[in-house]
Amino acid sequence: MPVKKGYFPSRADLGLQSAQQEAFHELAAAATRRNFGNGVFVRAVVEISNFCRENCHYCGMRRDNAELARFRARHEQLAEMILKHCPASVTDINIQAGEDPVAVREIALPLIKTLRRETALGISVCLGTLPARLYDDLQSAGAEIFIMKFECADARQYEWLEAPGTLDERVTHIRLLAEKGWNVSSGFIAGLPGQTVESLLKNFELASALPLEGCSVSPFIPGEKTPLAASPLANADWTFNCVAALRLMRPDWVVPAVSAFNIAARDGYRRGLRAGANLVTINLTPDEWRGDYIIYKRDRFIMTEARVLEAVAAENLAPAATGLSVFYREKKQDGARRTAPRETIPA
Ligand code: SF4
Repeated sequence: MPVKKGYFPSRADLGLQSAQQEAFHELAAAATRRNFGNGVFVRAVVEISNFCRENCHYCGMRRDNAELARFRARHEQLAEMILKHCPASVTDINIQAGEDPVAVREIALPLIKTLRRETALGISVCLGTLPARLYDDLQSAGAEIFIMKFECADARQYEWLEAPGTLDERVTHIRLLAEKGWNVSSGFIAGLPGQTVESLLKNFELASALPLEGCSVSPFIPGEKTPLAASPLANADWTFNCVAALRLMRPDWVVPAVSAFNIAARDGYRRGLRAGANLVTINLTPDEWRGDYIIYKRDRFIMTEARVLEAVAAENLAPAATGLSVFYREKKQDGARRTAPRETIPA
């Protein structure tokens, strides 16, 4: 199955099955190996708050879920845990929360400052849409990667889902972050109720138009205590075809294997790696808070260090020697070198 330069997925690609699907995923995995070798970036995530001012229909942490016990972590405790117990394979920490500006100011910022002072770990954040001044504060503290998913590129469906703000605002913030020098990763949900193939393809159009360094595909999981609790789970084949298509569309992007792959399919994490993903995430949120960080269900599949490294090894891959933040820094330097004039003309 030849794949042309400037690839964009077709309807047929997203619905592939059986041997053709396998061949498609092999092409995607080969594109990953050509660009990144056998190394997979390994980061850890800490979830710092499950308060959220938003009300996304697909998420258990939505503000209308009155049954959820809300928590904010203590930054000193998280810092101590990371400093003392961070697995050796981890090169980057992702700090994640619901849309909770209080947690940004009171937990994320002091935690980032401590990690920047005490470690060489790269730092990414996934904290939602914030005032520009807070983006600057996070960047000055030492974070370099911002994860802001656009979730759904169909503006009408975005509104119906009550996804954060409006799609236009989300896109404006993604562009603003990139202009400010952040390495921005985005993402979308495959298999949302009512999503047509055309609206699924719109996600690829929007992703390719944005100034991104990476993008994820998350399978729709019907979340407990959400308006979509009775909707069907995303089709796993379509989800992994989206991962492969994303990889073939942008061989240079970092594409994560998300823990929800394991809910979408048995061995889902490995299937994601086989379809071209090249970033894995170990969950380091302390047990006492982890149970209430419910994007989908209470019994979410926690990716421990052992599970993550087992999946990586089973696919004949290995933890990357270079961290994600370092990779982005070097990529920018290489780009600057390539575009820099070869000779300086004396004034
Ligand atoms: S997806 Fe994010 S913004 Fe939406 S309700 Fe959940 S935590 Fe809040």
